[in-house]
Amino acid sequence: MTAPRPRPAEPKPAERHAAEPRPAASGAVPPVEGRPLPVPDAVSAAYWDAAARHVLTTARCARCRAFAVPPDQVCPACGSSDPGFAFEEVSGRGVVRSWTVVRQSNLAGFAADVPFYLVDVELVEQPELRMIGRLLDGAAAGPRLGAPVAVAFEDVAPGVAVPAFRLAGTP
Ligand SMILES: [Zn+2]
Repeated sequence: MTAPRPRPAEPKPAERHAAEPRPAASGAVPPVEGRPLPVPDAVSAAYWDAAARHVLTTARCARCRAFAVPPDQVCPACGSSDPGFAFEEVSGRGVVRSWTVVRQSNLAGFAADVPFYLVDVELVEQPELRMIGRLLDGAAAGPRLGAPVAVAFEDVAPGVAVPAFRLAGTP
């Protein structure tokens, strides 16, 4: 679904300030250009709005409070067909459960970044709550199984940021 997102009303100055991205916790990520951009739909708009502010969210079931990535028609935890998913902020902390190395740039905007690691992260909020993202530590900083990571954001266009991860040191 690629329905156009309604343009929000012009924010008041205070709200505009609140919408600015949070400063990076450690090591700001320089802006990247030329990447494919996310196309939010009615379901994912809240996720991308939060990401633009450097806040990681995941969908949470209104019935059983379990997190789900991605939100589907049915809650995978409680089986509700009316899960009322809403995006809630999560810590962005997790551990590496798997990874792959991307060596070829088949998408625009990644040529300067290959090779890079794509990590499969289990977030701390819930067992098996998995999210895949780029590892921004570079090709030399290979991940290991169970390595702690923290979310980081790549600013890919004005007002558009994509969640990724950084190694977070020894647990
Ligand atoms: Zn549920």
